[in-house]
Amino acid sequence: MSASAFQAPRGTRDVLPDAQGHKRFVELAASRAAAAFGYERIDTPTFEDAGLFVRGVGETTDIVEKETYTFKDRGGDLLSLRPEGTAPVCRSYLQHGMRNRAQPVRLHYICPMFRYDRPQAGRYRELSQFGVEIIGDADPAVDAEVIELGWGLLRDLGLSGMALLLNSIGDPACRPRYVAALREYYEARADAIAHDECRRRLKSNPLRLLDCKEASCRALIQSAPSSIEHLCAECSAHWNELLACLDQLRIPYRLDSRLVRGLDYYTRTVFEITPPGAGSQGTILAGGRYDGLIEQIGGSPTPGIGFAAGVERIILNLQEQKIPAPADAGTKVLLAHLGPDAKKFALVLGSDLRSRGVPAILAPAGRSLKAQLRYASSVSATHAVIIGEREIESGTLVLRDLAHSRQQNLSRRDLIASLASPVMQGQPQ
Ligand SMILES: [Zn+2]
Ligand SMILES: [Zn+2]
Repeated sequence: MSASAFQAPRGTRDVLPDAQGHKRFVELAASRAAAAFGYERIDTPTFEDAGLFVRGVGETTDIVEKETYTFKDRGGDLLSLRPEGTAPVCRSYLQHGMRNRAQPVRLHYICPMFRYDRPQAGRYRELSQFGVEIIGDADPAVDAEVIELGWGLLRDLGLSGMALLLNSIGDPACRPRYVAALREYYEARADAIAHDECRRRLKSNPLRLLDCKEASCRALIQSAPSSIEHLCAECSAHWNELLACLDQLRIPYRLDSRLVRGLDYYTRTVFEITPPGAGSQGTILAGGRYDGLIEQIGGSPTPGIGFAAGVERIILNLQEQKIPAPADAGTKVLLAHLGPDAKKFALVLGSDLRSRGVPAILAPAGRSLKAQLRYASSVSATHAVIIGEREIESGTLVLRDLAHSRQQNLSRRDLIASLASPVMQGQPQ
């Protein structure tokens, strides 16, 4: 057999059946965590008006400059494949009048995002993100709630050694003073900036100087002024209350003054969770407050905070920490059949088993029993029912427990009852 002339596009990949266990494990844990905190599910379109992601004039960030898949459709509309989840959720909040509901509104999503990024380990052009947003509440207790949700999810998945990095970047009242101080600091050391992009950032977006990953920029970043020292009284009170909440919840955090967001609708709290030994490149969950976003897309001023976690990054860390996906405990039956009458019998038995909630797979016809049982192991069947002429005549079928190499003879009715029992289904009695 020859391979197809086509391959999955650069930066994308197939998630084969073998890899679905971890994916399902993460998605299920994420939905459970969201539900435990009362976050309702929302789905938004895969593409949006490009303007939703590229707002304002002269705004320069990596994500809008070069990381979106933006195209004109046949009708001439400029659209972007969704690069992140927050703006679409806020757009939907406004479009559907969710501000008329009791505030705050808690929402979560899990869906693919698209970024025209340089592909590397754990970094894809199509990636899956789990995210939560709480809109309509400015209280620091909800900042703590969102952090607790993300932190608890990673803990419940069994990941260890995670670090919660935390910062406050202030608000429109105090940030201009901080940005001015930062600019002043860098301008006084302009000769020491070896990195062209950072020289450009000094003019266009000084905050982004702080999250530069270049080694040559590290020394300057280390002694740069921190935003915490420049917070106004309100931002400072918010910050202190958030820390008190996290202490109450016994969630350990580390202040990281290099944690910033380049867009001006971000306010106050910024946080990230990184795995052991990974730099900021390895961040698996990132979030923050965006009190200016809803106003920027046409609503009245409305506070909001949320995070997004990369599903592939989480899976990568589960694999690195050797945390297996829970085994599929459910019963799966292969119906082995020998002869034309047995095949018909198997078809109907399969139907009856499935209607009782038992997954049943018909073995391929015209093969020896041995070959059919080999097929059972390749489809990970837990049991095989062996049906031949003799079994049909006597009304007694053979049920083989493949994992334990045991078998018993049962009537059709007892066989169905036994396979459909809660013990067989792997559920608690
Ligand atoms: Zn730099
Ligand atoms: Zn402030």
